[in-house]
Amino acid sequence: MFECVKNLFKKKPRQGIDYRNERPRKIALIIGHSEQSTGALSRPLGSTEYEYYQFLRDFKIVNPNVQTQVFDRNKGWSSLVEKLKIYKPYATIEFHFNIGGGRAHGVECLSKIGDLKSYEIADQMCLSYSQKFNKQNRGVRLVGPRSQGYNKGRGHNNLYQARKAAPRSVLFEAFFGDNSNDVITTDQYSMWLDYFIENL
Ligand SMILES: [Zn+2]
Repeated sequence: MFECVKNLFKKKPRQGIDYRNERPRKIALIIGHSEQSTGALSRPLGSTEYEYYQFLRDFKIVNPNVQTQVFDRNKGWSSLVEKLKIYKPYATIEFHFNIGGGRAHGVECLSKIGDLKSYEIADQMCLSYSQKFNKQNRGVRLVGPRSQGYNKGRGHNNLYQARKAAPRSVLFEAFFGDNSNDVITTDQYSMWLDYFIENL
């Protein structure tokens, strides 16, 4: 009986990394694509995904309980993962926009299949963004390996890489860059992102 109780207190620490209770809560903001491969071009915005998201480099949060740091993929995945492992984020968010033939619209967020903690953030992000800007919420897309039939494996490697260094990782597709009614300015984006991250 006593052994039993004692064993309860000898429980091994929980496996895996999680920084839920750490303050400041660190959020890694990853700019999608890279200098070498800049992603989709938005004609309404006059910029590629990589160019558009440079605004994140000026993004500052005043709340001392939250901290953000910007990362990019310019030196490849392994370099990014190493930097993230040093930073130890609560979550990573990789930023993109969609392209869909000019009429498609709405926000979506990608999360790895079976990854509930990431899913929660993805779900909150879609909801928050769609409500703030009155846009269609396309919801969370679950991604998995191409070999298992998941939509050509879109986003899977991105999330697989980021999850090596963080307990939560999502890939955010805010709008359709080729739909002038769907895009938003970087000022609007910054204001919403600040609100969202402070309340995460
Ligand atoms: Zn992209």
